Amino acid sequence: MKSISLFPAVVRVGLLALVAAGCESSSHHHHEHHGHGAHSANAMSAASTPTVSVNTDGVFTPAPPPAPQQDTGAGVGYDKTPVIPGQKWRVHDKDRPVPPIVTPGARFSHGAPPPSDATVLFGGRDLTQWELSDGKPAPWTVMNGFFQVAPKAGAIQTRQEFGDCQLHIEFATPSLVEGSSQGRGNSGVFFHADFEVQVLDSYNNRTYADGQVGALYGQWPPLANPVKGPGEWNSYDIVFEAPRFDTAGKLSRPGYLTVILNGVLMHNRKELNGPTHHQVVDPYKPYNSRGKISLQDHGNTTRFRNIWVRAIGEYN
Ligand code: MG
Repeated sequence: MKSISLFPAVVRVGLLALVAAGCESSSHHHHEHHGHGAHSANAMSAASTPTVSVNTDGVFTPAPPPAPQQDTGAGVGYDKTPVIPGQKWRVHDKDRPVPPIVTPGARFSHGAPPPSDATVLFGGRDLTQWELSDGKPAPWTVMNGFFQVAPKAGAIQTRQEFGDCQLHIEFATPSLVEGSSQGRGNSGVFFHADFEVQVLDSYNNRTYADGQVGALYGQWPPLANPVKGPGEWNSYDIVFEAPRFDTAGKLSRPGYLTVILNGVLMHNRKELNGPTHHQVVDPYKPYNSRGKISLQDHGNTTRFRNIWVRAIGEYN
């Protein structure tokens, strides 16, 4: 630590803040994810410069890490719902721990242009690729480059059906924060009508773990909570593998979801135990493994933009 004294005081404090930040970080990928690393370092040095303290023994107390988001409360959820098959928790278990909060990088796939083989489901202008469940035109509100839920109009679904697919979709929960738990910025991305990746304002908003943003609703909480604040755009990159059924209608392969939110892995090919429904455990219903993608109307004016989907190819 002697060499430290060669630096002017201001530089010294800055360096120590960075050293402290590096030591404290549990990430071994600090330099692999440029955006996140730079973001952390900036946030860390900005936050800690005024508060690093140096005592007479040369022991340094780092500033606390920035905490833009905090767990805001006690468990919310249920204690009489069925136990989830293969797990020790009940559906929406009020005692199930919530995943750690992660501050995402400033952007990841936000604004990502579609690849040449993608089907563009919303490019910024119109909802011609979408419909109501009865086939009527989607009545949600298109604004400047995005659209938002028209509460009580009902869910919208794609006109086309898809099988196994890769979906890119961006969402922003309302900047005016209203409601709590499941009532705040709730929507959802549904595959084949039955499998929901939750959309929710989980920024300082406690709900049951398997119902927060990124949850495979009622089955698996996400591995992390990297949601951005109300009104900010989040990017989802999702791989959906539909369940398969044999000719007798028996499940031959479950469905799987892989989900990245704002560059943070939420699920790594996580197995679905059936449809993702509220408060219940539902068995798979056989179908042809193709279906529509739909967006939930849960009464909140959540916004969406830049939506495209690709079929998953086959290896040679
Ligand atoms: Mg939902």
